Amino acid sequence: HDLQEPLRTVSSFVQLLSKRYKGKLDDKADTYINFAVEGTTHMQKLLQDLLSFSRAGGGRLNLQPVDLQSVLHKVVQSMGRRIHETGAEVTGEGLPVVTADETQMSQLFQNLISNAIKFRGEDNPMIRISAEHNEHHWIFRITDNGIGIDPNNIDRIFLIFQRLHRREEYPGTGIGLAICKRIVERHGGEITVESDPGEGSTFSFTLPDQEAEERPVISAAVP
Ligand code: ADP
Repeated sequence: HDLQEPLRTVSSFVQLLSKRYKGKLDDKADTYINFAVEGTTHMQKLLQDLLSFSRAGGGRLNLQPVDLQSVLHKVVQSMGRRIHETGAEVTGEGLPVVTADETQMSQLFQNLISNAIKFRGEDNPMIRISAEHNEHHWIFRITDNGIGIDPNNIDRIFLIFQRLHRREEYPGTGIGLAICKRIVERHGGEITVESDPGEGSTFSFTLPDQEAEERPVISAAVP
């Protein structure tokens, strides 16, 4: 918050400069003003994302039963415009109720789905979300038909500020997946990705099934 305040001041003054003096000085001045406006806009986005990153790791988790099917439904609704503009199709069925922090679950789905749309290929984005139950945990998969990820870079992308593209190609701050990793790990799970470059990617994450862990283990009686 302390950083946002002075940045807001800088940002509003460079915007004023741009409004008042664009086209009235020389070409160089216009270019410099444009850079200053872009720089402050990017800085604001960076600060917002950093704040989300720090929030994802701090504070207490508000753990309660969360219906992930309805979380997905709300996330898809909130992204309606983007989904419509890109002709994306997002499908997901059979998602369970888990013990989790609902706000963080929404952010997790939102980050993964918006990446699947952002890093789309030539075809309309097709995004499929599924859940599978294992002995002690749930495995969730978010599969897209996007540009994919070079296997050599797979470890890097979950680190903060690590991006595989220039901002001019795909906008972003390189914080989204670091937030996802924090959220999943705070809930006792793991996040990984598999990808076929040019074909698509599947992000998978696990969440412990609290109920399964609490169920008593029935062991066969030894005669
Ligand atoms: P950002 O989206 O701001 O770049 P992220 O942390 O969300 O930051 O992602 C890091 C990098 O991982 C991206 O820059 C991109 O190269 C790669 N990436 C993430 N999601 C996908 C995806 N669904 N398909 C292809 N590449 C992806």
